Amino acid sequence: MKRSRRILSMMITILFCISLFATTVSAASRPSMFPEEYEYNVTQGETVKIKFTVFHEFKSEEAHIRVHKGDGNGSIVASSDRTFSNYSNPMTEYTVNWDTDDIEPGKYVVEYWVSFYTMYEWHEPPTHNNHLLTINVKAAPCKNGHTFDDGKITKSSTCKATGVNTKTCTVCGTEETSAIPKTEHQWDEGTIKVAASATASGNKVYTCKTCKETKTEEVPAKFNDVDSNGYYAPAIDWAFDKDVTSGTTDSTFSPNDECTRGHVLTFLWRAMGSPNPTTSENPFKDVSSNQYYYKAILWGVEQGITSGTSPTTFSPEETCSYAHILTFIWRSQDKPDYTGLGEWYEDALSWASDNGILEETSATNSVESACPRKDVVTYLYRILAEEGGKALHHKVGE
Ligand SMILES: [Zn+2]
Ligand SMILES: [Zn+2]
Repeated sequence: MKRSRRILSMMITILFCISLFATTVSAASRPSMFPEEYEYNVTQGETVKIKFTVFHEFKSEEAHIRVHKGDGNGSIVASSDRTFSNYSNPMTEYTVNWDTDDIEPGKYVVEYWVSFYTMYEWHEPPTHNNHLLTINVKAAPCKNGHTFDDGKITKSSTCKATGVNTKTCTVCGTEETSAIPKTEHQWDEGTIKVAASATASGNKVYTCKTCKETKTEEVPAKFNDVDSNGYYAPAIDWAFDKDVTSGTTDSTFSPNDECTRGHVLTFLWRAMGSPNPTTSENPFKDVSSNQYYYKAILWGVEQGITSGTSPTTFSPEETCSYAHILTFIWRSQDKPDYTGLGEWYEDALSWASDNGILEETSATNSVESACPRKDVVTYLYRILAEEGGKALHHKVGE
């Protein structure tokens, strides 16, 4: 009897041991997770892939990962938890990405374990902190900025394309490039394509000696106050070219300014080629030999173009009207036979009108008002210009 009780007792003990052993084995082996690598060496800024294979057989399981600074008891710098419930698939891959960009260099350990739910409560193996793997984070050499050299030109710039300057970090070899601006074109002295006149702008074409690119620049007209499309523009060009008048300043012609009788007779005289008068007899008290119009007026008297405003006066500073200038011109052309009615200027006016000299000017409507400079040169041009005028001209003295 005693013997049989002992045997039974031994059997129970063995069964219990087997049962306990079996439970222990089961808990230690499944569920469980195994790292596929045991040690990592990374440089700051790299992302660590921590990869595990998880075996599971309970209905509810959780895998846990903690990254500690230093050893398994150091502060936690990263963590991940995942629940598994797919009982039918007992093996699962579990990957955690750990970004080390802001991580201090040094040693880190990854702690990992699986907990499971059975018998109405969660179980966690008490020894999970034995499951550790090590990650060594190395300092990035230029974490706080590269140390670049002075750089060198790896592509020279031209006037067509930017160049490249390349700097190299003397610590890690990283290269950084920057653009070198295009160089300036090397323009030649330029070629006139359209010559500027006194009234119209022209242009000049410059060619780059390096790349042959061209650019066109406007060459301004001599006078900035003349409409180059005006009926008087060809006349002003002609008057400037022939030195009949050089304008009122370097850049203005003052087309609407009035003229004096002294001016107009001088313009006519210059348009005729500034001939020297043969006489030196001056009938006018208001014309002195040091005036610019002196020779012109003596010549005008000699040619029968003017007889003054009285036998002893010419009134050189008096405003010149349309009547005056048309009469001067008409007389300069040997008074072609025209019979105007009434006023002293009518013959000249009829002749000028019939020959189209007055077109677009205001002479007909206001013959006794001041003749502006633009119309003075227009009349001279239309009578006297070799080209472009009406070629009515007759050189006095011929
Ligand atoms: Zn560097
Ligand atoms: Zn160029």
